[in-house]
Amino acid sequence: MSKIMIVEDEADLITILEYNLQKAGYETAFVSDGRKALDVIVKERPDVVLLDWMLPHMTGIEICRAVRTHIDISETPVILLTARGEESDKVKGLSTGADDYVTKPFSIPELLARIKALLRRSPKKKKLEQLSFADITIDFEKRYVLRNGKMVHLGPTEFKLLVCLMKEPRRVFSREDLLKLVWGDSIHIETRTVDVHVRRLRRALNQTGDDLIRTVRSLGYSIDKIPAQRKKNSAKE
Ligand code: CA
Repeated sequence: MSKIMIVEDEADLITILEYNLQKAGYETAFVSDGRKALDVIVKERPDVVLLDWMLPHMTGIEICRAVRTHIDISETPVILLTARGEESDKVKGLSTGADDYVTKPFSIPELLARIKALLRRSPKKKKLEQLSFADITIDFEKRYVLRNGKMVHLGPTEFKLLVCLMKEPRRVFSREDLLKLVWGDSIHIETRTVDVHVRRLRRALNQTGDDLIRTVRSLGYSIDKIPAQRKKNSAKE
């Protein structure tokens, strides 16, 4: 039985959705607090997520991004529920990695059709098996990282950090982005903790190759192929 996760803060809508989805033969679960959504999705492993755009504490977009960069659930189909007239928002939604969207108020048969289409498109939890950038390869199944064919030993936090950076090479992640994506929102961690773990990640990676992690002053970090010019300079230091 396919499981549909409802991330929504309007109690009436949750009731209507649960009733209709269950009637259509789906298992359902819901979460109303944006901050808890990611944890619940990781725990429940739904086949489709219905994600409201406007939620308390965290927007649907932020949650969608977090889903896409989370190792265990990155392939989960997401349908964004947006309010009428958010045209530009819709586009943003899709470029953030949502698979589809429906505009509120929507008809239940239409929503059911979209869900069905998504389930058909994604054969049961097609998991991301490998991710590569430059000479680094992450193998999710065996949970190891190779660089130039050699094993790189990483702690769990450094592993998650690397996955995050490698899923979107060249994107500059702020420390706040990384805190959210790697540590989740359940935390009282200072942003400089990110620096500590990036330093560890760098040290581990650089044993078998050049430094690919770019520190972007006052902005954050990205993974990037660093121009030869800069490589030469850093070699001199
Ligand atoms: Ca809402």
